[in-house]
Amino acid sequence: MIRTRFAPSPTGFLHIGGVRTALFSFLYARRQQGEFLLRIEDTDRERSKPEFEKDILNALQWLGLRWDHDVLYQSRRLGHYLELARDLVGRGLAYEEVNEGRTAVKFRMPKTEIVFQDAVREEVRFDTALFDDLVIIKSDGFPTFMFACAVDDHDMEITHVIRGEDHLSNTPRQILLFQAFGWKPPQYAHLPLILGSDGTPLSKRHGAVALTAYREESFLPEALLNYLALLGWSGESNQELYRLEELVKKFSLKRITKSGARFDREKLEWVNMQHIKNLAEPDYLAKMTAALENESKQFDPEVWKRLVLLYRPRIKTFKDLLNQANYCFNEIGPYDREQINRFFTDERLKSCLEKWAENAKGLPSFGDIAQLEAMTRNVADDQKVEAKILIHPLRFALTGLTASPGLFDLMSVLGKEVCLKRVGQFLESAPAK
Ligand code: GLU
Repeated sequence: MIRTRFAPSPTGFLHIGGVRTALFSFLYARRQQGEFLLRIEDTDRERSKPEFEKDILNALQWLGLRWDHDVLYQSRRLGHYLELARDLVGRGLAYEEVNEGRTAVKFRMPKTEIVFQDAVREEVRFDTALFDDLVIIKSDGFPTFMFACAVDDHDMEITHVIRGEDHLSNTPRQILLFQAFGWKPPQYAHLPLILGSDGTPLSKRHGAVALTAYREESFLPEALLNYLALLGWSGESNQELYRLEELVKKFSLKRITKSGARFDREKLEWVNMQHIKNLAEPDYLAKMTAALENESKQFDPEVWKRLVLLYRPRIKTFKDLLNQANYCFNEIGPYDREQINRFFTDERLKSCLEKWAENAKGLPSFGDIAQLEAMTRNVADDQKVEAKILIHPLRFALTGLTASPGLFDLMSVLGKEVCLKRVGQFLESAPAK
């Protein structure tokens, strides 16, 4: 049976690269009807923190990357590592080194050549003559990452170790540890580095790297997984949009690329946008309302529904609605002078808008979109102007923007009172004659 694992060190928040590693390990295991395990590598006593561990577990759950069996914590197995280290010492393969009264254990590095077949990088060779002896137990009694990781990959019967390329040079050392115990090493697959827009390894300099930042921005978990799957992997067709179940069906180690994969925020936004469009309507409404819980309360439920459906094809994330439709949530600032002057060069505008306001006042409410449109068009007809002479300035008066979704829909979202107030303000801003 295929068994993979994700083995994060809880020394920081789960980042984009970690999620991709977890995802590929998850996909490979699920593809083969195998198991995906989770191991917390908390042997760095100073840097491991419970809040990071919590963040990692929460994030995986939120993403829907479910692991099998109980989580294994290395810090709960210290005796086991010590015992194995003693065994190596007993057989002369490791030795104790006393430093200021404290004892560490070091693995004696054999001088040899290690050759292994990496599922991504193919044949990889290392000359271990260049390697120093390896600390396996630190003087605080804790194992090093290198040692505990190899021991646990064996104990957990991991068949495939899928991890970032930054671990490539650890592999020959870990293979030597496997050999020292007479264990069979797993198959390794080293994933290409994730790069930022400038081609250097992705880091905070390039923008947010913590998964929680994307979660807070209201990206959909399924969109993040979809996008991250494309960072270093591609399917056989040029399909770019996948649900998790589809990725499970199509994933293979063979189609992982060797070269670095560029993280492209715009592409991620595009993928998220497509996933938003594909949600069933009730699901979309529920998720949008949850993402903007407080803001949604400013609106009557029917009006809120109208607003969020109006923007569904346009938003990159749920919270992007706050930027794109800012005028629905907040007062609009002073109008852009240049635009104002441009609109009012048309002599007829002022009287058209006054007429529009007069007719608008006569409507009982702004709930009927067809009625708003008919009313507006009638005003234009009566004033003997083309409808656009009225529509563009109205849009600008109501939103402060020159582009928006359907004008009459958004009139009904803003409601009679706000619309009349804004048209009034717009008229007041008209340049003096
Ligand atoms: N704990 C290591 C890390 O977080 C992972 C090691 C591995 O996957 O083998 O980088």
